[in-house]
Order: sequence, then C-alpha cells, then structure tokens
Amino acid sequence: MNTGQILEFFQKAVSKNRVSHAFIIYGGTEEERKSVAIDIARIIECRTSPKICSNCYSCKTIPSGQFPDVHMVQPEKRNLSIDEVRSIKENMYTKPYYGSRRIFIIETDWMQQPAANSLLKIMEEPPSYGMIIILTRNNKNFLPTIISRAINLKINPDIEMSFDPKTTEEFVQILQSAKKKNWQELFKSAEGISRNSTREEIEHLFDSIISIVRQKVLAAAGFNQSLPEKKHSDIIDVDEYRVLAEILDKRQYLRFNVNTRIFLELLAIKLSTPKWRNWQTR
Ligand SMILES: [Zn+2]
Repeated sequence: MNTGQILEFFQKAVSKNRVSHAFIIYGGTEEERKSVAIDIARIIECRTSPKICSNCYSCKTIPSGQFPDVHMVQPEKRNLSIDEVRSIKENMYTKPYYGSRRIFIIETDWMQQPAANSLLKIMEEPPSYGMIIILTRNNKNFLPTIISRAINLKINPDIEMSFDPKTTEEFVQILQSAKKKNWQELFKSAEGISRNSTREEIEHLFDSIISIVRQKVLAAAGFNQSLPEKKHSDIIDVDEYRVLAEILDKRQYLRFNVNTRIFLELLAIKLSTPKWRNWQTR
C-alpha cells in the first residue's frame, strides 16, 4: 500500500469502530513511516475523526509530541530495551487523559528476547484503549509471535514519486565509469556512496533508477511520458519492459543484507551493458 491507502484503511476502521490494538508498519522511508503513524494518531484523535482537520488541539499537538496520550518511543540504535518496554507497560494501563486511546509509536528494528516477551504480553492483553504502532524497516527482524499479534502494513514506494535527481546524480557518475569501463573509478564511487548512505537511502536510489527506466520504457512504447532529464536518460541503455522487470527483481538482494557496495557496482555494470540476456542468473 502507499501511505495514502494506509491512512484510508485506518479511516475506514475508525468509522466502523474496529481499530485493532497492535500494528507493525514497515517498508518505506523512516520519514514516511513516522508521518503515517502521526496521521494515524490524528485520524483517531481529531475532533473531526476519522478526518484530519489540522486545526484542533489533537491535530496540532500530536506531531510535536505534546499530546498527552500519544507517546513516541525512539530506542537508542533502534534496539528496543526491556526498560523501555517496562515504561510502555506502566503508561499503557493509565486511562487516556484527553484522547480516546493511549497510543505508543515505537520506532525499532531490533528487540532482544526479554524485551520481545514483555512487549508480547502487552500485545496479548492490552487495555481496551491501548494501541501500539511499531515502525520498522523490516518486520522479519521480529519474533513470529510478535508479527502474528499485530496487523502488518507495508509501505510500498510510490514509483512516480520516488525520483530524486540529487541522489541519482552520484549513481549516474558510477554508470559513466562503467560505460567507459573505468573500473577503478567505478569501484571508488560505489564505495563512496555505500559508505555515506544508509541502506534505506540506497533503496531509495534504486527506486529512482527504476523510475528513470520506467519513464524511458513508457516513452519508447509511445505513451506520452515526460522523459527524465536527458543526462540521466541517455546514460541508461534500457528501454524494454522485460528489462525493467528483471531490474525490479534485483531489489530483493538489498533485503538479504547484500553488501551495498557490491550491489551498486553490479547494478551499474548491468545497466550500462546492453547484453541483457546474460543477466538471468538467479
Ligand atoms: Zn483535528
């Protein structure tokens, strides 16, 4: 789902008075996850709920963390500790001061067994007004019992929106090195991007590349697409849909903790090599 669809999902749930107690929102960027969670809290607490008026006390104070019944939990290194879970537990069973719910938004990618077990207890027996929204890069990092106790919603990147000329610029340099077969320069640039970017940023870059390829493919097929900037467009030797599908397929490697530097190198070499049939190894 894109973020708009996730919000719609909550608006429907609120109007049917059937909002569950635990959610895991994963995928997307850190900002997307956070802003979706804040809007979910606003959908629940706004005086025009399930709409968001942006003007009432709830709408105004939830984003800044001033609303008394919405708590942001941001563990160090995104690793949720048992102490943080204890504090959630203490606060969870206090009735809401102002809102209709006690909402805990937890940004975490990891939790050790004791923290997970303790959180699981809260998820199993939440008070009627309690709500937990876990925000994470990948829900597969959690115990299956945690995953199955929550409604899992994945933010899918909106391909039209993901084109980011600035991050793409650096990658275009790698592509140029690959075209010139200047491997030393290519490895150096790949190392640079890999060192200075988070995995999320590299996923975002990948989405930008996909966006360029897609625009080229559609334009080549006669659809009235505005072409991406020429310098980006020219450097990528791809204009077939089949190839787009093959590249999309490679995104999964980023999920499997493949070294991002190697990933960038391979992607650049493949994108600048027209012999596509050789890239079928799975
Ligand atoms: Zn409002």
